[in-house]
Parts: sequence; C-alpha cells; structure tokens
Amino acid sequence: MSSLPVLVLNSGSSSIKFSIYEAGNGERRKLYEGAVDGIGTEQGKFWIKDAEGNKLVDRSPALPNRSVAFKMVADLLHSGDFHAPAAIGHRMVCAAPTLQDNLRVTPQMIDEMERFKNLAPLHTPIGAYIMREALQLFPGVPNFACSDSYFHRTLPEVVTHMPIPAEYSALGVRRVGFHGISYESIVYQLQPNVPERLIVAHLGNGASIAAIRNGRCLDTSMGLTPTGGIVSGTRTGDVDPGVLLFILRQIAENTASATEAADQLEAMANKKAGLLGVSELSNDMRDLRSAINIGNREARLAVDKFNWTIAKCIGSFFPELDGLDMLVFTGGIGENDIAVRAEICAGLGALGIVLDPAKNNIRGEAVISVENSPVTVRVIPPAEDLIIVNHVVDLLAAQVEPTPSE
Ligand code: AMP
Repeated sequence: MSSLPVLVLNSGSSSIKFSIYEAGNGERRKLYEGAVDGIGTEQGKFWIKDAEGNKLVDRSPALPNRSVAFKMVADLLHSGDFHAPAAIGHRMVCAAPTLQDNLRVTPQMIDEMERFKNLAPLHTPIGAYIMREALQLFPGVPNFACSDSYFHRTLPEVVTHMPIPAEYSALGVRRVGFHGISYESIVYQLQPNVPERLIVAHLGNGASIAAIRNGRCLDTSMGLTPTGGIVSGTRTGDVDPGVLLFILRQIAENTASATEAADQLEAMANKKAGLLGVSELSNDMRDLRSAINIGNREARLAVDKFNWTIAKCIGSFFPELDGLDMLVFTGGIGENDIAVRAEICAGLGALGIVLDPAKNNIRGEAVISVENSPVTVRVIPPAEDLIIVNHVVDLLAAQVEPTPSE
C-alpha cells in the first residue's frame, strides 16, 4: 500500500483530540497532532503542532458546541495547508455485542452504537456523534472504528461471565473491558521483549488494570461498562450492588418516573463519584495533591481509596498470572504522579514490587524499580493513536479486492 495520511480522532466531553499520520508499507510517521479544547466556552483553544512540537496553529476561538469545534478542524484540514485525510480512525468505546471488532463506520453501525449508549454514557454518545459528523464533513473518506474492548476478546469465559440469571446474560451482560487500545499500545511498545506475565495499570481520569499473559489479555478490572473496576476520577468503580439499590430507592422517593430515577443514579455513578465524590473537591489528581499538601483530609481519603483499589486489584491478578514479571504504569496519573506510584507500590513489596525512589522521581518513560527487582516496574506513555493507525491500515488492506490469479 502506498503512503497515505490517516486522521485519528479521540473525543472527550469538552475536547476533540486528533493526529495525522503518514502510513503505508510498515511506515508510520506522525505529521501533526492537535486539539480543540474548552467546547461549550466563549474562549476555547485550538492548536496544531508538527512532529517536532512546533505550534502551527494556536487560536482561542469561541467554541459554543461540538459541531462548531469539529467543523473548525475539518475546514482547516481541507484548506490545503495540511494533509487532507485519505482515511479516518476513531476510538470506539461501546459495549454493544456486535461492535467488539474493528470495523468500517456506517450509518447503521452508528445507530447500533447509539442503541447501547447508556452502557458508556460518558463516551459512546460523543463518539457516535463525531463519527456521524465525520461521514458528512469528509465525504468519500473511509472511516473506521477501533473498539476499545477488542484487546479483551481473549478473556476467558470465567472472567467475562457475570454471576446473574441467564436471561440477563442472554441480553449481552458480561465483562467487556475498556482501555484496550492503551493496553495494546503498551504490548506493542514492549515488543520484541514482551514479558510473559504483565500487569498494566492505566491510570487516567478513567482508570483500569489488565492482566496480560504472553501479550494476550487474561483479566481486566472494568466490567460491562467503564463505571466498574477500580476507582476513577468521577466514577464509583466496583461497589456493593446493595449500595446502588439503596441509593436508587432514596432517589426514587423524589422522582416521577423510573427512567428519571435511573438517569439520576447513572449521573451519580459516572459523574459525581470516585475521586470527586470522596474529596468533594475535584476529579483532577493535581488539585487533590495541592489540597493534600495543605492538609485536606477528604482529598487524602480520596487518593488513599484510589490507591487501595489499585493495590488490591494488582494483588488479585497474581494467582491468575501465576506471579508477575513486569508492572507498567500508564495514563495521565500513572505517567506523572510520582507519589501515587510510590503509595501504591509501598504495600506490594511482599509481591516483589519494590520501587527505587530516585528512579521513580520522574515523569514519562522510565524503569522505576530497584536493580534486580523480581518484578520490573516501568512507566510507559500509551501510544493509542499509533495502534488506531495500524488497525486502519489493516482494515484498508482487507477491503482491497484480491487480484484474481491466473
Ligand atoms: P488522562 O485521562 O490520561 O488524560 O489523565 C488525566 C489525569 O492525569 C488527571 O487526573 C490529571 O490530574 C492527571 N495528571 C496529568 N498531569 C499530571 C501531573 N503532572 N501530576 C499529577 N497528575 C497529573
């Protein structure tokens, strides 16, 4: 395949991040990356950098809504000043049973995503919206969706199956797992020396952990939805189901309909809980660290709770992996919060996880465990866009009709 520009889109609640790669025949070269941030504000940010980090665009436009923000990106990519994309790759966060593969974006598959939007309400509706817009704004350009759960397709049945009546399992209720593109990118970056027994802790605003054996996913903390698992910035993680039932009954006493009560419970579990809920201050780890430094007790409890769920989860994966060779921290917190890494690992010494404080005193890629540690501990930033480009290239190649042989 000759080289072509591939646009990668990754959208959040108030931002659209993108990058453009030149891809073909094993070659992957990042040309630009950029973002529109502050969607819904009078003064947002719109920037583009080249591969060397030089800012080519740096504006502060009004960004009243996502449609205006995305059109701004599309207009610029069509202006002739940048490489207009020949293919587009999207990160797809969606638990729909039929959308667990990497696939071509069509209006019908976007409809299917929207049918399952309540299973990832912070991600699926935004992703579906951007895919629909991309089909309109880049006519004739093939769009591909890369499932954030595809990496978890190797989970064994005992892990995916939920202890619930069969009638609900038949509806597709099972462990799906997310952050798969990040996990795949860590395995990709470790090649050719992928350790046999690997745990990756993706600690960002959303947080999850995966146990990986010989490059294949064996277990993961998130469940049917990104709300489950370890504590996240605004999400509960796993809680006693009785707690949700209790809160639902409390909410139902003051709401008119079951749907309204369910919406309120959903908002509680996804937007008001986790680090934000416990601290009553912020879901941003930087704010919590500042608060801890001036003695804020709730911020300390929130971070302790976060660390506790992570250490427990890492420990719980040991029997499944039959030990551990490497632990990798990734994601905004995993890469940058030196204290979180130290606090989590402080309780894991008995499992052979021992950090070197001097080596841990770093942001970005590094080996941070002591010399001759039974478990090597590393920090590796994810390379999700690169993995999406790889899948787009594979999907494009698979679409080409084979030449009939004589
Ligand atoms: P992500 O979702 O991967 O972008 O990660 C977002 C999280 O990373 C937020 O909780 C941020 O507070 C955290 N984060 C980003 N930079 C830093 C930093 N320098 N120190 C501590 N946490 C950080």
